[in-house]
Amino acid sequence: MKIKFSKVDYKSIPLFKDVSVDDWNNWKWQMRNAIRDIPTLEKVLELSEEEREHLSQTLGKFKMAITPYYAALMDKEDRECPVRKLAVPILNELHIDESDLSDPLHEDVDSPVPGLTHRYPDRALLLVTHECSMYCRHCTRRRIVGETDEEMGKGNLEKAFEYIANTPEIRDVVISGGDPLILSNNRIDYILTELRKIEHVEVIRIGSRMPVVLPQRITDELCNIIKKHHPVYVNTHFNHPKEITDDAREACEKLANCGVQLGNQSVLLKGVNDCSNIMKSLMHNLLRIRVKPYYIYQCDLSEGISHFRTTISKGIEIIENLRGHTSGMAVPTFVVDAPGGGGKIPVMPDYLISQTEKRVVLRNYEGMITSYTQPSDYQGHKMKDCDFCNDESLVAKDGVAKLLNEGGTIRPQSMRREIRTNGNGKH
Ligand SMILES: *Cc1c(COP(=O)(O)O)cnc(C)c1O
Repeated sequence: MKIKFSKVDYKSIPLFKDVSVDDWNNWKWQMRNAIRDIPTLEKVLELSEEEREHLSQTLGKFKMAITPYYAALMDKEDRECPVRKLAVPILNELHIDESDLSDPLHEDVDSPVPGLTHRYPDRALLLVTHECSMYCRHCTRRRIVGETDEEMGKGNLEKAFEYIANTPEIRDVVISGGDPLILSNNRIDYILTELRKIEHVEVIRIGSRMPVVLPQRITDELCNIIKKHHPVYVNTHFNHPKEITDDAREACEKLANCGVQLGNQSVLLKGVNDCSNIMKSLMHNLLRIRVKPYYIYQCDLSEGISHFRTTISKGIEIIENLRGHTSGMAVPTFVVDAPGGGGKIPVMPDYLISQTEKRVVLRNYEGMITSYTQPSDYQGHKMKDCDFCNDESLVAKDGVAKLLNEGGTIRPQSMRREIRTNGNGKH
């Protein structure tokens, strides 16, 4: 569905009808007036007796915050409204499923200093605040987000900078949270400036949902700060075409016009976007506002979000319906963030049907089966004479790539025959 980008008509909502345009467009006004309680929420949507009771129980454990802007996107009556599901708590959040884990991605375990997760060899995740302008109901970091509404103390942040400075392998820093763009312009400038002082940090990424839930935050002043520190990439988080408004378009274009490459990371959510056609429309409309679809995440195993989970098969089905059927630019990578800190694992339909040394048989999106005859005299790249292969920093030091390069074995520590022989067995 092609979205007609139109300004959010907040004046039609009784609660906001007297708000001035200046206030509405002021992100601090939006933050101050975020909907946090039931009486205010009832002014923007209908709640049944039961819903009110459930909401009140849920708010005893998890906070709610909905920016007036995002509230204006919710359908007043429709309980199936995807925007409403992403913003308004329901009783299911109190249900702890037997598959739930408190820190499924081991972000705390893989953390050399508080707030910094260093999992992959050449990049690190820096959580600069636990605060958000809105609390997403499907938040993977709900164990910390909104629990301690505060910035990461200067001390911890300095320790993180020091760790990054002392770890020359880190060439890419992902700034996330909470939402980093909730911080003041000065604080954002400080963080970017400190990271830019570290010579081996080549790429800085900011993960923010502001273009979706509070596009007013993307001011000229903020863009002018960001563009001093290029290359800076911004990954945002649209989940449904309904979230792509004229205000969101304007925010993304502003960032793009100051040289920021924009990507999108969606989460596959039951009852919100677990449909190939919703996803296709989302991807098309993202490209129209200059955002490149980057990832679709399988909903992870964080506590209290089991009601949002789909099967992994649903994600594979969505990719099958995108790849080939529409622009490659519109096809993100579907990933499962592995429980236990295994990181993101891409999952997709199989396109490779069979192979011999001579031929590979492939199928395309139409089901056409084709064969590719491989060169018989292919000698391979001569690593010995290659400057890049002689650059230690580029050579994979672990994983399956290392097995391919050097041979060897990767053994699970929990292998039963290993345990039987106390690790001393001959293999
Ligand atoms: C997602 C993530 C990254 C970045 O991964 P990319 O695949 O490079 O986008 C880095 N560190 C952690 C801990 C992550 O979860």
